[in-house]
Amino acid sequence: MKTINIDVAVIGAGSAGLSAYRAAKAAGASTVLIEGGPYGTTCARVGCMPSKLLIAAAEAAHAAARTAPFGVHVDGTIRVDGREVMRRVKSERDRFVGFVVDSVEALPAEDRLIGYAKFIDDNLLQVGEHIRVRARSVVIATGSSPYVPPLYRTLGERAIVNDDVFDWDDLPRKVAVIGAGVIGLELGQALARLHVDVTVLGARGRVGPLSDPAIRDYAQQVFSDELRFEARAEVEAATREGDVVHLRYRTSDGTLVDDTFDYVLVTAGRRANVDRLALGNTTFALDANGVPAYDPLTLQAGTHPVFIAGDANGVLPLLHEAADEGRAAGNNAAHYPFVTPLVRRAPISVLFSDPGIAMVGTRHADLAPGSFVTGDVSFEDQGRSRVMLRNRGLMHVYVDRMTRRFAGAEWIGPDAEHIAHLLAWALQMNLTVDAMLEMPFYHPVVEEGLRTALRNAVARLKDAQ
Ligand SMILES: Cc1cc2nc3c(=O)[nH]c(=O)nc-3n(C[C@H](O)[C@H](O)[C@H](O)COP(=O)(O)OP(=O)(O)OC[C@H]3O[C@@H](n4cnc5c(N)ncnc54)[C@H](O)[C@@H]3O)c2cc1C
Repeated sequence: MKTINIDVAVIGAGSAGLSAYRAAKAAGASTVLIEGGPYGTTCARVGCMPSKLLIAAAEAAHAAARTAPFGVHVDGTIRVDGREVMRRVKSERDRFVGFVVDSVEALPAEDRLIGYAKFIDDNLLQVGEHIRVRARSVVIATGSSPYVPPLYRTLGERAIVNDDVFDWDDLPRKVAVIGAGVIGLELGQALARLHVDVTVLGARGRVGPLSDPAIRDYAQQVFSDELRFEARAEVEAATREGDVVHLRYRTSDGTLVDDTFDYVLVTAGRRANVDRLALGNTTFALDANGVPAYDPLTLQAGTHPVFIAGDANGVLPLLHEAADEGRAAGNNAAHYPFVTPLVRRAPISVLFSDPGIAMVGTRHADLAPGSFVTGDVSFEDQGRSRVMLRNRGLMHVYVDRMTRRFAGAEWIGPDAEHIAHLLAWALQMNLTVDAMLEMPFYHPVVEEGLRTALRNAVARLKDAQ
């Protein structure tokens, strides 16, 4: 057994781990990056990128089927070739993964350890069979994995997770998506638009991350108009016969439905990858999910020289947050015991459906009642949205009553991913609604809808005086 003594050991070469490694090295610390699985990151391999590639194909099919109202007719049938769709998804995905793999393999060989890491004690790690690493500080950046509830575990390879979708060679005929969170809705809508017969079964009335009841109801209707969507279904049985899965579920109005599917795509949340870490060998306090209890500002686990970043900490499972947290964790690990809090950017999240769903700033559910006014706009009659026949959507912006500062927004509507950036930047600059309305708005653009919502908020502020 070989033992390496090092300043910082980073466990996991995903987006958080890579940025932790780079930050620790930049701070002058001797650092190793430990990876048990394949290089390439969740984002590039089975997350952000392949999901957006599938969605891009779905958008092409959807646009081709909706030209007639413009007087443009695509004669004949619109044929989706599942094999060609998946070939492009996988070859482009492999290209993105290749760039990441190349960049990791360009790191000094002596800094890279291959194998799953486990704790022997608080700062001694074992990597694979033959290497031990004694580290002054450790960054846990082990990411997360899909959670499959016990009900579906008896279905064998017919119960799949997002990773499996991006391994398909062809599209299936019929799929049940379990879970109406971000991943379930993105993949569910994309598959439906690629002519797969899709049923999405949510459990708790959720529609993605939305917390504003009016926006959630509107979004629920949008999805229900396009595919079989039960936001509050109770799945009573899941059984398999050959290659067919039988589901029995109860809808919110009490109707019992029996249906069969080729696959059940389980998107019922994700769990931190801590199982292999043998955290029981440490003195770290663990939370109910077995993750070290940690300070969300410094990412430090208790008073230990251990920092936890990215999806492993389960706070904001988003790529840019993983990269920011990794950088902060790497810095703190290198400079321990001098630890500085992470300065977070304005909260922003996007669900790449069509229309898109986005949230910026404080969630509606987290705003103190009475502390804010809501400005709203429907995109149904919004000029540019109507021109493009993309006029579905509802937006709520929240403005603090005392300071007149923009506090947050939740909405579903066209070009949501772009408007989300305008709003996140305004929030990070602490702009008031008045300052935002002094900014230029071109004509005719979807952003004019945002201006309507902001003006409505100003009117409500006046009413509230
Ligand atoms: C389908 C899907 C779509 C998504 N879309 C978006 C999107 O559009 N926008 C967005 O911002 N985010 C998106 N995300 C989220 C984003 O991908 C994650 O937030 C991000 O990849 C997390 O990075 P990470 O470094 O924490 O984890 P990972 O990239 O998963 O890295 C963790 C690494 O640790 C390794 N590891 C685990 N345990 C050990 C161990 N004991 N020893 C050694 N190595 C170990 C793993 O093998 C893995 O390589 C999506 C996620 C999914 C699943």
